[in-house]
Amino acid sequence: MKLNELKLEVDYFEFDEKYYHKVNPTPLKNPKLVSFNPLACELINLDYSECETSDFVDFINGSKILEGSTPYAMAYAGHQFGYFVPQLGDGRAINLGAVNNWHLQTKGSGLTRYSRQGDGRAVLRSSIREYIMSEAMFGLGIPTTRALGIIDSDSFAHRDWEQESCSIVLRMSPSWIRVGTFEFFARSRDKETISKLADYVIKQSYPHLENEENRYEKMFYSLVDKTAELIALWQVYGFQHGVMNTDNFSLAGLTIDYGPYAFMDYFEKNSICNHTDAEGRYSYNNQPYVARWNLFALISALKLICDESKLESYMKTFLPQHEKVYLDLMNKRLGLDASKSGNSNLHLILELLGSLENAKMDYNVFFYRLTHLKSFEDLSSILDIAVFQEPLKNWFESYKKVCDEQKTTFESRFEVMKKVNPKYILKNYILQEAIEKAHEGDYSLVNDLLKIAQNPYDEHSDFERYANPTPMKFANIKLSCSS
Ligand code: AMP
Ligand code: MG
Repeated sequence: MKLNELKLEVDYFEFDEKYYHKVNPTPLKNPKLVSFNPLACELINLDYSECETSDFVDFINGSKILEGSTPYAMAYAGHQFGYFVPQLGDGRAINLGAVNNWHLQTKGSGLTRYSRQGDGRAVLRSSIREYIMSEAMFGLGIPTTRALGIIDSDSFAHRDWEQESCSIVLRMSPSWIRVGTFEFFARSRDKETISKLADYVIKQSYPHLENEENRYEKMFYSLVDKTAELIALWQVYGFQHGVMNTDNFSLAGLTIDYGPYAFMDYFEKNSICNHTDAEGRYSYNNQPYVARWNLFALISALKLICDESKLESYMKTFLPQHEKVYLDLMNKRLGLDASKSGNSNLHLILELLGSLENAKMDYNVFFYRLTHLKSFEDLSSILDIAVFQEPLKNWFESYKKVCDEQKTTFESRFEVMKKVNPKYILKNYILQEAIEKAHEGDYSLVNDLLKIAQNPYDEHSDFERYANPTPMKFANIKLSCSS
C-alpha cells in the first residue's frame, strides 16, 4: 500500500477530554531518514519503497498528517522510583492513530500538555537505542513494541551540557496503555471511567475476554501471566530495563519505553544499568520483585471495579510462574530438560550464575560458546575468555554430572541450545558505535545493526567481532536517564 492510502483510526476520543490532549507534532528542521524497518512495514501493509520518499520522512516528522489521523498525547500518572507522580503523560510522544491494530506513535515530536519541564524532544542517541533494541527484543522472541522508522535533523537539544541533534522514532504497539494510565484514571474514583479503560484494554489486548463474566479480574490474571513470562525472558537473556516505573509498564505485557537499558556484559547479579538508580531498585535481580510491586500498584487502581482480594490472591502465582519460565529456558540454554530433574536443575543454574560472576564471564557469549562446545576435555573456547577460570572449571564438573545423568550428548544438547542461544546480543558498546557513526552523518551501522537485531541467530560475517566478549573497558557501564 502507498503511504497516502494508509487510513489511520483514532479510538481514544471516547474518553473524556481530560484524559488526552489533541496536539499536532512540531516538526524538526531539515529532517533526514536514518533507517526504516521493512518488517514493521509488513505489519501495516506499507510498501517498502514508500519509505525512501520525502513523504515518509515528513510523515515521521509530523509535517504530513495522514487521512483519519488526529494527533493526540495521552495523560497518565505513575510511580517513579516508588514515589507517586499524579500527572505525567506523553510529554514528547504523539499518537497518530492505528493501522491493523498497530497504534502508531512518534517519540520526540514536540511539546504537549504533559511536557512539564521537558522540551518535547528526543536526541539521536536515545532514538537509535530505542529503534534498534525494540527490534532486537523482537528478534529474541521477547514481547515488545516495534519501530517503523527513525529520522535525524538539524534541530538541537541540550542534554548533559552538550547540544545533540534531535530525532524522532515512529514506534508502534498493539497498546500504549500503562499501569500509570490506570493510576491516572483511578484518581476520578469513578467506576464507570475505570471500567471504560479496562474495556478498552480488553478490546486491544485481551479480546477473548470481551464477553466473559468477571472480565476485569480475568484481564488482570492474564496480565500477571504475561508479565511473569516477560520478566523471566528478560532475565534469561541478561536484559535490564533500567526504569521500571509504573508509567513504563505495559498493560499488554510488552517491553515498552527503552531508556538506559542494558544487556549485561559480564554476569553480575545485582547489576544496575541506570546511573540515577543509586539504590538498585531496578537492578537485574530485583526485576521480578519490582514487577510484582507494579502489579500491586495496578490492584490499587483496579479495586473499584474488581474484587481486590481475588487479585491479591492471584498475585501469589506471580513468582512461581516467573520461576518456572525462567528455569525451563535456562535449562534449555544449557541443553538440558527441566522436567528430567527433581529440582529442575535449580542448583546447577544457581551455581552457574555464581561461577559466571566470579569468573567475570560475558553472560551471553558463555551460552553461545557452550552451544558449540565439542568436548569436556577442551574447555579453552570458554575458559580463555574468563578473567578467572577456576570457578567455571568447578561448575563444569557439576554440569558434566547432570549431562551424564540425563544421558544427553554434545549433539543432543546442541539441538536444544542452538534454538535459544543466539550468536549476537546487542550490548551497549555495540549500539554506541552506531551512535558515534550516526553523529558523523553515517547511518550505515544503524541499518546493519537492525538486520543483526532481527536475525540474532544468523551469521553476519562482517560483524564477527560483535559475537566476542565485550572489551572490559566498556563492560557493565551505567547509563544516564537523560535522553
Ligand atoms: P521516561 O522516563 O522517558 O519514560 O519519561 C518519564 C516522563 O517524562 C514521561 O511522561 C515522558 O513523556 C516525560 N519526558 C521525558 N523526557 C521528556 C522531554 N524531553 N520532554 C518532555 N517530556 C519528557
Ligand atoms: Mg516512559
